[in-house]
Amino acid sequence: MEKINRADIEKLQNMIDESNRIVFFGGAGVSTESGIPDFRSVDGLYHQKYDYPPETILSHTFFVHHTEEFYRFYHDKMLCLDAKPNDAHKKLAELEQAGKLSAIVTQNIDGLHQMAGSRKVLELHGSIHRNFCQKCGAQYDAQYIKKGSLIPRCQKCGGLIKPDVVLYEECLDDHVMSEAICEISQADLLIIGGTSLVVYPAAGLIHYYRGKKLVLINKSATSQDRNADFVMQGKIGEILKQIKVR
Ligand code: NAD
Repeated sequence: MEKINRADIEKLQNMIDESNRIVFFGGAGVSTESGIPDFRSVDGLYHQKYDYPPETILSHTFFVHHTEEFYRFYHDKMLCLDAKPNDAHKKLAELEQAGKLSAIVTQNIDGLHQMAGSRKVLELHGSIHRNFCQKCGAQYDAQYIKKGSLIPRCQKCGGLIKPDVVLYEECLDDHVMSEAICEISQADLLIIGGTSLVVYPAAGLIHYYRGKKLVLINKSATSQDRNADFVMQGKIGEILKQIKVR
């Protein structure tokens, strides 16, 4: 991985300074510096051994037919409730508070952007912090899932509870999608970070960007590097930490 130098940070700083409607589009790589593994890095979940591949476990069919196995994986790997926001989450929240960033569009389900103080967070793949009884619709928080029995049941009706997380084979929320399209198409700077850009339809949203400043910050190369105006290879927390909000 190339080392980020001062000139690169200054270039990013200038792009941020001259923008007033920044949108950040991110993925699991934004939270690795908080200790939550991503899917596709060498130490990510796709390189660990399970009885089934993670794509299979995290599918709707698997949830329905192998609920216990699903929840074993979910408790072990997805319910990261002790993680804290890192410098990337914090800087993005600061940019929003300063009126420079209009939205975060995230594929993450961990809620760390909100914990850092961000308000406009469009969660394309849902959140571990919302859980619904499939029978009566009652809502439960993540602690209820964490502390309860392996397969969570509704206190009111005994129905099966499902996390409000978009599993493979499930549709993304129309309202969240259209808001994301609206924000991205109006952005004057689009910063994409910590995502392999291989999960669709989420990754396709970046094509709605019409501006001239597309920045890509990622640890490894992506298929969109050639379309970006500026590519920074490195850790997003370490990079954004050096940006001044003014
Ligand atoms: P991914 O695992 O496919 O890709 C992560 C990318 O981030 C990789 O390209 C990796 O090189 C890069 N990366 C890792 N650490 C980084 C860092 N510190 N700085 C910069 N780049 C870094 O993840 P994805 O593209 O988000 O897509 C996969 C799916 O993973 C999403 O649908 C998401 O819902 C799910 N997921 C979410 C979480 C979470 O909520 N934290 C965790 C794991 C998976």
